[in-house]
Amino acid sequence: MQDIVTFHQPPTIKCLDLWFESGDVVVVAGYVAFRVHRDVLSDNSTVLADMLSSLAASEESNQEELDGCPVVRLKDSVHDVKHLLRMLYNGIDRDDGIEPIRPAACTDLTSEARMAHKYKLHTRKESYSALRHHFPSTFASWEALDSEGLRLSASDAIEAINLFRAIGDDDSTTPHMLVALYLASGCTLPDGVLETLRGADVERCVLLREALLERSAWMAAQLFAGGASADCRGAEGVCDARIAETRAAVLYGDADEWMHADALGESMRSWIDGMELEKGRGICGICAGMLCERDRELRRELWEEMPALLARVEEEMRGARGGHDEDEEWEEN
Ligand SMILES: [Zn+2]
Repeated sequence: MQDIVTFHQPPTIKCLDLWFESGDVVVVAGYVAFRVHRDVLSDNSTVLADMLSSLAASEESNQEELDGCPVVRLKDSVHDVKHLLRMLYNGIDRDDGIEPIRPAACTDLTSEARMAHKYKLHTRKESYSALRHHFPSTFASWEALDSEGLRLSASDAIEAINLFRAIGDDDSTTPHMLVALYLASGCTLPDGVLETLRGADVERCVLLREALLERSAWMAAQLFAGGASADCRGAEGVCDARIAETRAAVLYGDADEWMHADALGESMRSWIDGMELEKGRGICGICAGMLCERDRELRRELWEEMPALLARVEEEMRGARGGHDEDEEWEEN
């Protein structure tokens, strides 16, 4: 804990990463204080500029101070404020000896986009498109993102949905909302995370998860339908038997590898790989290739059908509420 020093008075701790001796204002989030420069804040954010000028107006009265600097308290989390300040200082090369701040190794896209939007940073469009890049509109770009391991986590997707909602870029039929809802419906969510979604989105994601699970079962059955490839190079009947056996296992509930409900992801691949590598009775490479290609086709089809899938979810929600628009009822609850 080298970079944290405790003050004597109230439990405020300095964030030494963002504590400039030449700073002339202290930003506080929670119990963490950041000593920064007014001009850096006000040059890049109209919201912060307004906060600082109202600060200047009240300077005569009992203005809170830390280390001789006026204090601005923000209601955001420490995590968010760190991202906000990093964005403000990113690329700044001042002649007063301040090291330019490098972005954190793992930049948190959702936090950046949220802060950039809230504080009206000049760079908010860039932050937003960096985030939107992770919610692609074509299956090809989704696939590329996924295979590069750039898929956002379910909790990031939840934060993104909340942001899309906040700025009104949240038409449920748009690809980025579909991808975000898909990711948020992921089965790897720890307990309680889904509840950080607002209003009807919790229900939307739960219903979508159910629909995707059903779809995954259907996709698994489809994947192993139809026997070996016409170009099969395996020993007589081996691939045919193995594929038929797998299909039967899926249909009778003996194999549940599809249960992960990551229907748009590549998880079936490892199942197919396993079938190819199985000692003594593995399927041939041609048949494995055929299955992989079919798996990809099934995922591509699902991608195309996502709008219809979500429309059914919406209909189910409307039906459950006797035809009322669910979002209205949830508002400001
Ligand atoms: Zn074969």
